[in-house]
Amino acid sequence: MKKMLIVTAPSGAGKTTIVRHLLKTFENLSFSVSATTRPPREGEVDGKDYYFLTLRKFNNRIKKEAFAEWEEVYPGKFYGTLKSEIEKKWRKKKNVVFDIEVIGATNLKKLYGDRALAIFIKPPSLEELIRRLENRDTENKKTLAERIARAKEELTYENNFDKVLINDQLSVALKEAEQMVIDFMDLEEPKAKKKTKK
Ligand code: 5GP
Repeated sequence: MKKMLIVTAPSGAGKTTIVRHLLKTFENLSFSVSATTRPPREGEVDGKDYYFLTLRKFNNRIKKEAFAEWEEVYPGKFYGTLKSEIEKKWRKKKNVVFDIEVIGATNLKKLYGDRALAIFIKPPSLEELIRRLENRDTENKKTLAERIARAKEELTYENNFDKVLINDQLSVALKEAEQMVIDFMDLEEPKAKKKTKK
């Protein structure tokens, strides 16, 4: 039975870096591409980073119950996991990996129960989290303030998840994340092989 790995965190805690590392390390993992109404950032590719949808199309998908979960993550900016995306990955015999915010992650975990491992990535402190957000050059003043406010609240969601991983020293966090994946996938899947370097 194929499974899912839900990686969640307050904005800026480093979940995307961890997700990318896991995808590079394990060949039986595949990224769940979400749908969003936010515009693409420089370098982002439609269908690879996100499915970039108009608000109208997004609403249409909601009406058709095409989403396993969706959230208005920032005012006017919607994000959602398409059921078809999960099914597509499972059909290809891959375990699906999610990089999503805490409410969506909570909902997915509730929906999929033991088929899902939900990991909460935690920054070493709130101050460090704010520093990391400030150092991103993708934010302007307004979106930065939105993200800090949201991150503070998101830190309170820790108890909803199976595992908590503190991202202080990245190399240590990456190793811990790898071990969590191995333990979880090995429950039924001794073939959770690491990719060999070519
Ligand atoms: P960003 O705009 O920086 O790519 O993402 C903003 C936030 O939305 C991040 O916390 C990201 O993990 C989250 N996100 C991405 N895809 C989804 C999704 O499908 N559902 C939910 N609930 N959140 C998502």
